[in-house]
Amino acid sequence: MPVAGSCLCGAVTFEVTGSLRPVINCHCGQCRKWTGHYVAATAAWKQDLHVHDSRVALTWYRSSDQAQRGFCKKCGSSLFWQRDDADTITILAGSIDGRTGLATKAEIYIDDKGDYYNLEFPQVDTFKQSGHNVRLSRGGSSE
Ligand SMILES: [Zn+2]
Ligand SMILES: [Zn+2]
Repeated sequence: MPVAGSCLCGAVTFEVTGSLRPVINCHCGQCRKWTGHYVAATAAWKQDLHVHDSRVALTWYRSSDQAQRGFCKKCGSSLFWQRDDADTITILAGSIDGRTGLATKAEIYIDDKGDYYNLEFPQVDTFKQSGHNVRLSRGGSSE
């Protein structure tokens, strides 16, 4: 069943028609600045993400030489993270409307985490090298 999402003001809406990766929490410094806390995000195949943006609110900020971050310029909602060479796109879990059917599976970039909160999920060091671009299996359940 497709899931739908939106930004805070509703200018940007989207649907995902394919499978979603389990949620991973990223504690890197960029994600913490971008959201004000940390990023809890799923991911989808790029071709499965259908964005509706009739007011041209979705804006991309190049946060590194490898990736861009998509946000709504009207309300400021953080929505997407896109690695340049990836065929998947990271979607912030909080932007999904209603029940997601997802579960949080891992924490990454834990060395960068803030000192004001504790971790709840397994810490997966092996994700460090690939960053947000954790594998998403084609069809069926993701890893
Ligand atoms: Zn908005
Ligand atoms: Zn991050």
